[in-house]
This record gives sequence, C-alpha cells and structure tokens, in this order.
Amino acid sequence: MSDDCIFCKIVAGDIPANVVRETDATLAFLDVNPLAPGHTLVVPKDHYERLGDMPSDVATEVFHEVYELVPRVESVVDADATTVGINDGEAAGQEVPHVHAHIVPRFEGDGGGPIHAVAGERPDLSDDDLTDLAAEISATHRE
Ligand code: AMP
Ligand code: ZN
Repeated sequence: MSDDCIFCKIVAGDIPANVVRETDATLAFLDVNPLAPGHTLVVPKDHYERLGDMPSDVATEVFHEVYELVPRVESVVDADATTVGINDGEAAGQEVPHVHAHIVPRFEGDGGGPIHAVAGERPDLSDDDLTDLAAEISATHRE
C-alpha cells in the first residue's frame, strides 16, 4: 500500500467507493467523475504504478475482471458498446499513479470518439520502418 494513494485508500476501506466487484487481487468500483453512466475502474489491490509493474498473474486477473464486467455494465446501463482503456503513464494522461483500467460505456451518437482520437499528430512511418520496429519489439525483453 502506498500511503498517499487514493486507490490504495479505497482498497483499504479508508475512503468510500461504489464497489461493483472484488476478487483476491482486484477491486472494481464506479468512477467518481464518470464519463458515462456505469464508468467503472478495475484496479489491482496492491499498489503498482504502471501496467508493466504488475506481476503476470495480477495483470491476468485485472484483465479477466474487465472481461467479466464489460457485458454486465453494458447490460445494466443499456449501452451499445464499450471503450476499454488504460492511461499508462503521465504522458498518456494517467493522473492516479495506481494501475486502473477504465470501462467506459458507449452509446450510439454519444459524441465521443474511438481510441484513435487519443493520440496527437500521426507519425509518417514507411513499410520498412514498421518492419524494423516489429523486429526490434519482438527481440526485446522486459526490463
Ligand atoms: P486517470 O486519468 O486514468 O488516472 O484516471 C483517474 C480516474 O480516477 C478519473 O477518471 C477520476 O474520475 C477517478 N477517480 C479519482 N478519484 C476517485 C475516487 N475517489 N473514486 C473513484 N474514482 C476516482
Ligand atoms: Zn495505490
């Protein structure tokens, strides 16, 4: 647990949240400032800042909870679709430094955009650049 982390405090029960599901390693609760009705966050109970900081079994459980929750939340709020996203790191917009997956219910004509809308200017990469990048990523090990 990290002392000044708001999500650790929710996990510890020190501040209230609208909890929707709990497993050994995860907690899911409603976002306090929702982008849509049913906007839910799934967090590991232990404090990890970045996606890659989580052990593999915890990462698996977090994603499994996303898998379990998306159809449930859609059905409860009668959504047409869902955007699932993780702001992984400050430059990506992460404000709470404790891993959390957003489940954002989406509705036809809700005025939102696809995940493609989150990035800025698109890079100009050739086919060779893509081939090289794929090879480099494929050959890299996690630090
Ligand atoms: P991010 O920008 O990905 O770090 O998102 C942080 C999210 O946490 C925002 O959508 C906030 O509305 C949400 N949030 C912050 N504090 C709380 C809280 N006490 N309970 C529930 N959600 C929260
Ligand atoms: Zn935390």
